Amino acid sequence: MLEMNKLSLNIPDTIKPRVVVIGGGFGGVNLVKYLPEQDFQVVMLSKQNYYGFWPLLYQVATAGLEPESIAEPIRKLFDDRKDFHFRFVRVTDIDPVGKTVNTLIGSIKYDYLVIATGTQSNYFGNKQIEQKSFPLKQLSDAVNLRSQLLQSFEQASMTRDKQTRQGLLNIVIAGAGPTGVELAGSLAEMRQHILPKDYPGLDFSEMNIYLVDGLDRVLPPLSPASSKRAHQDLEKLGVNIKLNKLVSTYDGEVVTFKDGEQILTQTLVWAAGVTGATIEGLPASSLERGRYLVNAYNQIAGFEDIFAIGDIALMKTDKWPKGHPQVAQPALQQGAHLAKNLVRQRKGEAWKDFDYFDKGSLAIVGRARAVADLPGNKSLGGFIAWVAWLFVHIYYLIGFRSKLIVLSNWVYRLFTYERGTRIIIRPLVRHDSKEVVELQSAGK
Ligand SMILES: Cc1cc2nc3c(=O)[nH]c(=O)nc-3n(C[C@H](O)[C@H](O)[C@H](O)COP(=O)(O)OP(=O)(O)OC[C@H]3O[C@@H](n4cnc5c(N)ncnc54)[C@H](O)[C@@H]3O)c2cc1C
Repeated sequence: MLEMNKLSLNIPDTIKPRVVVIGGGFGGVNLVKYLPEQDFQVVMLSKQNYYGFWPLLYQVATAGLEPESIAEPIRKLFDDRKDFHFRFVRVTDIDPVGKTVNTLIGSIKYDYLVIATGTQSNYFGNKQIEQKSFPLKQLSDAVNLRSQLLQSFEQASMTRDKQTRQGLLNIVIAGAGPTGVELAGSLAEMRQHILPKDYPGLDFSEMNIYLVDGLDRVLPPLSPASSKRAHQDLEKLGVNIKLNKLVSTYDGEVVTFKDGEQILTQTLVWAAGVTGATIEGLPASSLERGRYLVNAYNQIAGFEDIFAIGDIALMKTDKWPKGHPQVAQPALQQGAHLAKNLVRQRKGEAWKDFDYFDKGSLAIVGRARAVADLPGNKSLGGFIAWVAWLFVHIYYLIGFRSKLIVLSNWVYRLFTYERGTRIIIRPLVRHDSKEVVELQSAGK
């Protein structure tokens, strides 16, 4: 096995100022796009070697899209740049005095440091839920969840025990934000159109999809009108919605709620909250509610040369006193804005304040069912919102290849309901399972 001490970051020194970017998501990648190569050396450090389009992650989990169709290798995005350096590493901590970033394989000095590390799932300190539930934050999560779902259906078809089958067929999604709603809608359509054909021996009226949330409405970030519409659409699809309901424990087989109700399930999807993916090294005073406090230039409080953008940044303004929503647009816009300010600095020009342009919010519930909140307090629903959702997502998907694959998949599905990726590539083995069912050897 390769010894880690044989590796180093291996970045050439130049006379240009070095911008080190931690994170290759929406914010980090857009920042680099707007940084002119002749003015800066750019080093991106990320623990994923790809740029993932998270709004379509639920479609990977529900076998609608291949994982590769919603992601692009970061190296490919910038393969025309000579002084851009990508390193596939996890950053462990920052030394602001020495102007150094430390990683698992070595350190690097920066002139400017941009933290664009986004968020991670928040389990609110519940270790049991963290170990046993399924998060949906990155490609590997979606592939794991897809395997778990398909394995559960396979196993359900191989048991005569009603209670065991019920635990395999019940799916509980904690968190009725956009991820939970979109996942629930997609699973409900799968139950209606795909699964009865794949598993003719199973009775899918036994399959329950529960969407639960501690708040009193689905899609809390959207307007009440959009929430109501999404709620009705989900109910039409047969999703069982439980509001004002908090998960208390989950042992891998039974979800227990704070009010004592219990649901038997092998699959608890955790979409109930996120917290900032912060990095050690900056003072506690620069953090609030898991996000770095930044000024209108995205500078972290107390530092001239360290910035935070996207989900991890908390910029309080009169219009956004609690900070911007943790969605793609603020990350994209802050990345571009910071790059332009760094260019202004090189030219000796004054920096400009960041001003967020809210383009509205969209969520899809199912085929021809979506909701949209538009600027100016207008909301849309149904087919028009669904078409808007399709166009916006194709537009923002990065890379011609991804756009083409996703679009052709959707057109095919529109007419057939078919989902081609119902494949268990690598069976998911839960470390905690009492008994690992070897699917491959079943029937031998
Ligand atoms: C399932 C899902 C669905 C979503 N749907 C929508 C939607 O429909 N519309 C919408 O607007 N927004 C949506 N979002 C939110 C949106 O994706 C985020 O707001 C956006 O990704 C934030 O961008 P970012 O650059 O701040 O962080 P991210 O895009 O999350 O990027 C963070 C990067 O930092 C890297 N990183 C983290 N820690 C380290 C470390 N220690 N060392 C090295 N690298 C590190 C990660 O690997 C990643 O590359 C969704 C998110 C998820 C998870």
